[in-house]
Amino acid sequence: MKQENLLLQLQELLAEEHLLNKKQELRPLIKKLTNLHEEIKQAEEQSSDLEKQITEMQRKVAKVEEQTAALNEKIEEARERLYGAQGGSLKELLSLQQSVQKMEEEIAKAETLYLEKANLIDELTQLRVETKESINNMKRAYNIDLKIYKEKNHQLESDLVSILEKQKKIKEMFKPEVLSIYIETTKRFPSNPVALLKGQICSGCNISIPSVLQVRIKEAKKLHICDSCGRILIYQKEKL
Ligand SMILES: [Zn+2]
Repeated sequence: MKQENLLLQLQELLAEEHLLNKKQELRPLIKKLTNLHEEIKQAEEQSSDLEKQITEMQRKVAKVEEQTAALNEKIEEARERLYGAQGGSLKELLSLQQSVQKMEEEIAKAETLYLEKANLIDELTQLRVETKESINNMKRAYNIDLKIYKEKNHQLESDLVSILEKQKKIKEMFKPEVLSIYIETTKRFPSNPVALLKGQICSGCNISIPSVLQVRIKEAKKLHICDSCGRILIYQKEKL
């Protein structure tokens, strides 16, 4: 195969290599994974926050229970004194009755408070169950996407290896002087070291080529470099 055609083939492979290295295909997936990771983190924080609130609420409920028990004990004593009272003065009885009534009110208040807090604990517990469920769902989705990402990444890597192998085979078919010019030019233009003579201009830099050089390029006895951009300049006959 002609060296010029080999150069063009190699350039196509370079472009493919360039694209694969960018891994554009993986970007939406990486973004999705990053977002999911962030959402999981937030949900886990929310869950541990709920945990703290529940513990705090349980502590308060225990306190209310303790207070209620103490009040019940006191009211029991007061009632015994009230109903078993023998010969106390009317004033004493009235005061005792008032204090029993007051304690009854306090107990009723404590019970309402207890119910409120217990309901809140139920609600928070339900919320925590839901949060944990949603964390599990997100983790499942994350793992599925991570697997897809790894497979795709692996596929890209192996595509890249095969492109590099093809490049190597083409380079092995180059004459030594062509290979050395190619290597030099690729240092400056890693993905497009080869330009075409299109009409009178270089396809790499769009600057017109002197007519003497155009003729030589078309003769293709040796490789020519564009004076303006420095790319390898070759001529391809129009395909019929
Ligand atoms: Zn040029």
